[in-house]
Amino acid sequence: MLYEMVSQPQPKILITHQEIAKTVTRLAGEIRRDYYGKQPLLIGALKGSFVFMADLVRQLDLPLEVEFVRLSTYGAGKESSGKVKVVQGLKTSIKGRDVLVVEDIVDTGITISFLLNYLKKKKPASLKFCALTDKPSRRRVPVSIDYLGFTVPDKFIVGYGLDFDEKFRYLPDICELGS
Ligand code: 5GP
Ligand code: MG
Repeated sequence: MLYEMVSQPQPKILITHQEIAKTVTRLAGEIRRDYYGKQPLLIGALKGSFVFMADLVRQLDLPLEVEFVRLSTYGAGKESSGKVKVVQGLKTSIKGRDVLVVEDIVDTGITISFLLNYLKKKKPASLKFCALTDKPSRRRVPVSIDYLGFTVPDKFIVGYGLDFDEKFRYLPDICELGS
């Protein structure tokens, strides 16, 4: 495979694309049931959520809309700086909307709690949160996840949209990055 030719560090598969597909189907089922008769606005946190978001919306079968925001917590590396910046904010009003935030991973929880607070101030009718992965061992701020795909160990993961220094987003599986 192509990624085996990439120089160090080497990714090792943690969750296969088949397992991911099954889980996305399960999450879509839960969301579809809860939002039946509604027109939710899904807000993806860029860039990591873009692959997950694309797979998820195609299974929802709801008259949904999508928006994206871009936040940055990490510099170039594996450690959170702890400081969240809105790099690209919302361009439309979410007042009175049923908003579902879609994230790739919750680590310390700092990014998502910042985002949920930022959105809450804009007075949506409802605000829920869907995360593909959760790394609870590293939590510093409590976060409640309404729809969760996988709990992952305290490893730096890449693939399926998640990067390390912008690399590895294209991998179909969720991989652990060796050192
Ligand atoms: P938090 O604020 O919860 O510490 O960090 C959340 C953000 O950090 C995620 O949206 C993601 O962009 C990045 N992040 C945290 N852990 C990982 C990881 O294991 N792999 C990758 N690629 N990004 C991570
Ligand atoms: Mg993210």
